[in-house]
Amino acid sequence: MDHIAKPTYLTKALGLINHYGFSINFTFDINILGGNTPIRDYMSDLSTADIQSLKAKNIIYMDQVISSDGNYLLSWPDVKRNNNNNYSGPIPTWYKKLTDNYVLSNNLRLIHPLNDVVCDISRTHKSPSIIPAITIPKSQCIKVSKQQGNRIKKCNFIYLTIDIQQRNYPRLYSLGSIPCIECAYARDDNVHVGLCKEHSNQIINILTQAAHDLQELIITNTKDAGFDLDDTIRSSPLFNTTFDDILPQSHPGYLLIHHLVLSDLTLIFYNYIKDKKLRFSLFLKFFSTLMSSIDTLIWSRRASLIKQWESTLSITKNKKRFYRQRQKKRAPPPPAPDVSTQNSSPCRNYNHRHVATTPYYRDGIFHDHHAHIR
Ligand SMILES: [Zn+2]
Repeated sequence: MDHIAKPTYLTKALGLINHYGFSINFTFDINILGGNTPIRDYMSDLSTADIQSLKAKNIIYMDQVISSDGNYLLSWPDVKRNNNNNYSGPIPTWYKKLTDNYVLSNNLRLIHPLNDVVCDISRTHKSPSIIPAITIPKSQCIKVSKQQGNRIKKCNFIYLTIDIQQRNYPRLYSLGSIPCIECAYARDDNVHVGLCKEHSNQIINILTQAAHDLQELIITNTKDAGFDLDDTIRSSPLFNTTFDDILPQSHPGYLLIHHLVLSDLTLIFYNYIKDKKLRFSLFLKFFSTLMSSIDTLIWSRRASLIKQWESTLSITKNKKRFYRQRQKKRAPPPPAPDVSTQNSSPCRNYNHRHVATTPYYRDGIFHDHHAHIR
């Protein structure tokens, strides 16, 4: 009380109340207009320059830069608009830090949403519409990323075939070259997938079905498919099923099995479906059906055969999971078998920096510059 130079009647009354031991508790939150959560509390990595920039822009609270429901960071143009477009110059570093470290994915959803946002009534921004990809349950997310990971491994020829498992868990798998689980003729590696003679019947079925589906799809979606469509599909090297026993490594179907999109296929779409949007959607439809049959008939079937074989050797998921932990306690693993005497198959470089090249060979003048759809 003594510190106030000119006490008013109210401050005097408050002083008396305090003097007699009364205190006043508010039944509502006391907020400073403008926000609840200071940016300095929310962001741990603000530099002096950031603080100066915030000061210059008169931004103190997170509430000033997030959506009114507290779930999203506002886009920079929205932040500017909220503040009467007073800011000039580039997007400040502190805002970039927010987008780099404090939000999920690219629709600016905050990692730590705020549930007590103080919102200026003139602000009309709503949360951006939710992109379905981030709202799927976590278990689904893991599934999708696993699928995508597997796809990338397949087309880079680094899928977990037995040769790689053997390198990762030398004590679980027998030494030396382990033959293909299906034909026993070749080393069980990723290059062999599709070239295995046990796959050729499935491949012929898949390609025959795909040729039929493609023809149907084009006929139903274009008026002028013409008489040559049947001919085009028949003569495409991709749908050639006249090989005997084993799929040649130069057959475009080999790339397809390894999840690569080929020009043989995209060219047909180009030539028959002129509308870009329609072409793209039809291509996706056709391609995903085709790839799922390849996955079921070749990759999944193979994976379950390998699982069966592993269980006969009592190689379990748990043994792999705890492999490193257990090996630490044991003596160093046995020396790797000498590659030069092992077999004639080329030594594969497992360095993750190594860019795997496709073991695909095609005769004649062929440049696969168009092996993608635009
Ligand atoms: Zn085989």
